[in-house]
Amino acid sequence: MAIADLEIGGFAVKAGQTRQIRIAVAKLYTDTEFSVPVHVIRSRKPGPTVFVSAAVHGDELNGVEIIRRLIKLKSFKVSAGTLILVPMVNVYGVLNQSRYMPDRRDLNRSFPGSAKGSLAGRLADMFLTEIVSHCDYGIDLHTGAIHRSNLPQVRANLQDKETLALAQAFGVPVLLNANIRDNSLRQAAVESNTRILLYEGGEALRFDEVAIRAGVHGVVNVLAQLGMVRSRRKLKSFTPYIANNSAWIRASASGIVNSLQQLGDQVEKGTPLATIGSPLGETIETVRATRSGIIIGKQNIPLIQEGEAMFHIAFFSEPDDDIAEDIETMQETLQTDESVLE
Ligand SMILES: [Zn+2]
Repeated sequence: MAIADLEIGGFAVKAGQTRQIRIAVAKLYTDTEFSVPVHVIRSRKPGPTVFVSAAVHGDELNGVEIIRRLIKLKSFKVSAGTLILVPMVNVYGVLNQSRYMPDRRDLNRSFPGSAKGSLAGRLADMFLTEIVSHCDYGIDLHTGAIHRSNLPQVRANLQDKETLALAQAFGVPVLLNANIRDNSLRQAAVESNTRILLYEGGEALRFDEVAIRAGVHGVVNVLAQLGMVRSRRKLKSFTPYIANNSAWIRASASGIVNSLQQLGDQVEKGTPLATIGSPLGETIETVRATRSGIIIGKQNIPLIQEGEAMFHIAFFSEPDDDIAEDIETMQETLQTDESVLE
């Protein structure tokens, strides 16, 4: 039986075709069109339909590079199903180097949106109708916010068995069983029965080579698990560990920060994380971990105001030192791994 054309943004993509299309979102007051570039790869063989999206937050660039490398990768071939790549969902955020939409809205709080809504609402609606609704699965690529770094990690609804299996296949050591935020892409996708993994790695407005490589491998690993690409030369695989919760440690004083711990470090309850000092030389406070866990997020500006978030710690039921060791191995392996550049 012939596979039906995929109708997307007013274009028809046939089985066996690879097409770059631009999906129109809105007419702007500058008399220009707002459109989103999309790269569609369809195999002749039936299989799942998967989207990979980046820059839903316009200043989160590692995902843009992850998708760019995937498209360029010679060894990457979709052998079943359909892959829809959207390297810059919030095109105008990327242009303005901003997390937000030109109407100052957070796109990831604007779902499901509406075809007659504001710019953010229209983009959310287009993304759901033209992309998500076709897809069985999606991988949404993010980074930490501006001046905040995240350890490579996958966040998803891990109570769902199929989502858990895909999150494990991604191949990063840390999985976070995350609650769904209201009006997020993830919430809207659940309603259209699309299973979503959210990948986080690195910092806004920066490229982080390890986070990019972990992301490229992760996407390929998930597609291999779904039978859409042939498995490539295997990297050392990591047992993923699940954190069921996490917390930010906040500053107990205002001042100048000297970090004592880094991303991926294992900390015990009471471990000193940073000192906060006055500009005149005295140490005001030592910030300590409130529970044992692994640092998965960190504020990078060495200046802090009392109450601001400093370290994001994930809590695990497994022994923390095994996780810390795997994180170190992952970082070392990916630093020297050239396979994602071929
Ligand atoms: Zn984000």
